[in-house]
Amino acid sequence: MTDDPQAEHVPIAIIGAGMSGLALAAVLRANGVEATIFEAEASADARTQGGMLDIHEDTGQAALRAAGLYDGFRAIVHPGGQELRLIDRSGRIRHQHSDDGSGGRPEVDRGDLRTLLLSALGPDTVRWGHKITAARPLGDGRHEVIFAAGGSVIADLLVGGDGAWSRIRPLLTDALPAYAGISFVETDLQDPDTRHPEAAELLGGGFVIALDGERGILAHRETDDSLHVYTAVRAPEDWLDGIDFHRTEAAAAAVLASFGDWHPTLQSLVTDADGPAVPRKIHALPAGTRWDHRSGVTLIGDAAHLMSPFAGEGANLALFDGAELARRIIEQPDDLDAAVQAYEGEMFARAADMAGQTDAQMRLMFSPGAMDNLVALFEGFAAEQPPQ
Ligand SMILES: Cc1cc2nc3c(=O)[nH]c(=O)nc-3n(C[C@H](O)[C@H](O)[C@H](O)COP(=O)(O)OP(=O)(O)OC[C@H]3O[C@@H](n4cnc5c(N)ncnc54)[C@H](O)[C@@H]3O)c2cc1C
Repeated sequence: MTDDPQAEHVPIAIIGAGMSGLALAAVLRANGVEATIFEAEASADARTQGGMLDIHEDTGQAALRAAGLYDGFRAIVHPGGQELRLIDRSGRIRHQHSDDGSGGRPEVDRGDLRTLLLSALGPDTVRWGHKITAARPLGDGRHEVIFAAGGSVIADLLVGGDGAWSRIRPLLTDALPAYAGISFVETDLQDPDTRHPEAAELLGGGFVIALDGERGILAHRETDDSLHVYTAVRAPEDWLDGIDFHRTEAAAAAVLASFGDWHPTLQSLVTDADGPAVPRKIHALPAGTRWDHRSGVTLIGDAAHLMSPFAGEGANLALFDGAELARRIIEQPDDLDAAVQAYEGEMFARAADMAGQTDAQMRLMFSPGAMDNLVALFEGFAAEQPPQ
């Protein structure tokens, strides 16, 4: 039993106010069920959320519909964001399609989406500044959740929506994220139309992929018109550790060391960046990670199935997991175990399928002939569309 006789009881405790946890709480609340989210960050504005997400019809959008947030979602879609350009390292545009507003994967700003999800919750649903250090089973299906700042709560159902390095995952599986072989460096260019016109013109208004098989640049035009750039390199796990990102020019030179034959405008996305470059190693859980059901605890989103970002599925699956777990709880409010088991069975199959697709996409993007293969893939998609 708990050591803390004062511990508060919460029926449903969700760890993490990311896409998955917020979607779960929002869909539950839309159906009259209250849950409590415990989030490590101090407030909703503690960190800029940055980055664009394309929200897919059958997963991310379906979750937002279930939360009653579809109209709000349409209002934050970035017009033009579905424009795509594939550019080779010489700066030649190899494939392009514009955004006519009819695509099924509209782009939104991650921060706008988080604000939208928060708008569907009660004022006390999220308890900010509640970093958890551990959780432990009490032996009767309930769990005690322990906070870094002291204190604990006891949950009938504990849901880990706490991302890649989940503190809840060890209750269910020994699986750990492993380095996926690719390292990112993120940079931003503010007001590019005025300050970086060549980059702005080459990249256009939506999403850009430039690849040569070993390395690449992926970039988005954001809702504030800035350019957010991911420079991606197939590299050993310790490559980024050897770069001092406080020394801006030296860091840019180190990042671009293998981009010497790339067009200067593409290189300028790193050398002309505003603000510091942000290193990020890409990790993934083993495809097909699953566990034997345990009473009173489960995982959603990256905590359950962290994937590399190359198929753009992680946030969509996170939203969908949250909505699906909520649907199962609403269907069977008196049998949470059965509800969770039903959710887990479908989630394992969905996640394994997506992890396979994501790995295939990563292999395609980081192998010889990457640009030709990607152009062929997108031209194949285009040929499948009915004539306008
Ligand atoms: C560079 C990059 C680009 C990406 N691009 C895309 C894309 O284009 N499309 C797409 O669909 N996906 C994309 N993804 C994936 C996507 O970001 C994730 O899959 C998604 O955010 C997962 O949501 P989540 O709710 O599971 O976890 P998270 O968004 O990681 O949220 C977890 C939350 O838990 C909190 N937390 C963590 N530990 C604790 C703790 N101990 N106690 C309390 N709270 C805690 C965190 O503060 C956070 O708020 C990208 C990922 C990366 C790295």
